[in-house]
Amino acid sequence: MFAPETLYDISYGVYVITTKCDDTLAGFVSNTLMQITSSPVRVVTMVSKDNFTCPLIEKSGRFNVSILSAGAPKGLVSTFGYKSGRDTDKFASIAYETDSRGIPFFKQGVVSVLGCDVVGSTDFETHMMFVGEIVSGEKISEEKPLTYKDFRNIYKAASPKNAPTFQQKPNQAKMEKDLYVCDLCGYVYDPEVGDPDSGIAPGTPFEEIPSNWVCPICGVDKSHFTKK
Ligand code: FE
Repeated sequence: MFAPETLYDISYGVYVITTKCDDTLAGFVSNTLMQITSSPVRVVTMVSKDNFTCPLIEKSGRFNVSILSAGAPKGLVSTFGYKSGRDTDKFASIAYETDSRGIPFFKQGVVSVLGCDVVGSTDFETHMMFVGEIVSGEKISEEKPLTYKDFRNIYKAASPKNAPTFQQKPNQAKMEKDLYVCDLCGYVYDPEVGDPDSGIAPGTPFEEIPSNWVCPICGVDKSHFTKK
């Protein structure tokens, strides 16, 4: 037997991985990063081949890792996690800095930034695995790092479909109430909880949410939600 929820017990952090190739900036939210050796210091990460960023890392041979804090702004996660660089300039609305290599990174909502050179890669059909050698590391804040489990609780969202941890079926356990699911990011609107950050009080049925309300994670309108 295989219970898919067992995978949620694997611990991860949450990261924004960025690169610059020629004049193009790119980046995406990842939960797959781990240190694999200490001398030299190397990390490994998986990137979906469907990600705009993937071929740009392959070509540039370098990337940065902004390690998100527990207080990372939702805008950073929603922009870099649920939109594509093919049709959105992700860097237009988010403050960023660049390192000496010209590669962007973030300071707001970030605990540390790592600079990496790609020293190896392996093709895993749907994803590329990149081995990065750490060339720089800057401590940004003393906040607590965001864990993937906290991310799922805070954002009430599923993995983006390109993430290695994506699961086709949402968790069925809470699907008996009038829950509505965003078809883009997997955010589940629960009327018991509402969306207080957007002024939707707990107890508000989905049908009574104003039409100008948008998904708090990815920003799409109500038409993208379906009842579960
Ligand atoms: Fe959404």
